[in-house]
Amino acid sequence: APVAIVCVGMAGSGKTTFMQRLVSHLYTHPDPTVREPAVPKTPTAPPYILNLDPAVHHVPFTPNIDIRDSVNYKEVMKQFNLGPNGGILTSLNLFSTKIDQVISLLEKRTKPPEPVAEPEQTTVEFMTNTGKATPVPESQQVKHILVDTPGQIEVFVWSASGEILLSSLASTFPTVIAYVIDTPRTTSTSTFMSNMLYACSILYKTKLPMILVFNKTDVQNADFAKEWMTDFEAFQDALRKEEEGGSFGGEGSAVGGGSGYMGSLLNSMSLVLDEFYKHLSVVGVSAMTGEGIDEFFKGVNAKKEEFERDYKPELERRR
Ligand code: GDP
Ligand code: MG
Repeated sequence: APVAIVCVGMAGSGKTTFMQRLVSHLYTHPDPTVREPAVPKTPTAPPYILNLDPAVHHVPFTPNIDIRDSVNYKEVMKQFNLGPNGGILTSLNLFSTKIDQVISLLEKRTKPPEPVAEPEQTTVEFMTNTGKATPVPESQQVKHILVDTPGQIEVFVWSASGEILLSSLASTFPTVIAYVIDTPRTTSTSTFMSNMLYACSILYKTKLPMILVFNKTDVQNADFAKEWMTDFEAFQDALRKEEEGGSFGGEGSAVGGGSGYMGSLLNSMSLVLDEFYKHLSVVGVSAMTGEGIDEFFKGVNAKKEEFERDYKPELERRR
């Protein structure tokens, strides 16, 4: 079965650039889990791409389904007299009423081959959108559904329509959340902590397996983040150093001091997060250079298995 990768993250974290990198990677790297036919190697399994950001000006890839084709965000803002966030939310609401059509399109493009009569066949029957059965080599079936979401993360994650879109997807395909993080902007203990808490809340809201994608490693190496997530004492040390440096305000400040409110809050929250980290895959990537993308796809495969094993039974139980 194909896997759906939903990219979420703060505006500017690099979701769209990351999507573009995933697309170009999938076009140039054969899926190692698929046995290639003896001779032709290209084209490899193309991804199926959904753009759910109605407000994006330019998409550096060609989405198969684009929210902008069915909803005109500017027109929605004008007609309903809304600001930018209201416009995005209303566009998502309008689009979510079509989710059934979207899912059935996806199903057509990703359906596993029907069992075939002859036991040894190198090609399989595949339904195209026209309903005509065409033989498509196994290596060319859609294996990845890539979903880009609005820049404003809260509009997608915390809205009813976002929930409808995500749960429809997850009830049809193994679905993995890629939480994209702007690594250069997350190097202080307090921004790091806020970002992790936000990721944590999304994990609990979506109840889907999550990969933390520390992006922009060409600018800032993500080793510090990996260390903070695996070594509690390293994070505490960093906290202590920042406190000494006065990041939380000097002596006498309301939040300052080694035993200050902020320091002890961060300290105890890091204990809570320790539990959260155990459920995550973490990968450093550069959407710009392509560094770490191989490792990301390994993480996706692991999380896909986790979805089938742990999440799917839970989703079915809740339905
Ligand atoms: P989105 O709002 O999350 O979709 O973010 P975009 O993909 O539009 O990227 C925001 C900005 O970050 C753009 O200026 C990108 O060029 C830049 N960016 C994205 N990924 C990387 C990266 O891996 N390295 C660097 N240096 N810049 C990046
Ligand atoms: Mg974007």
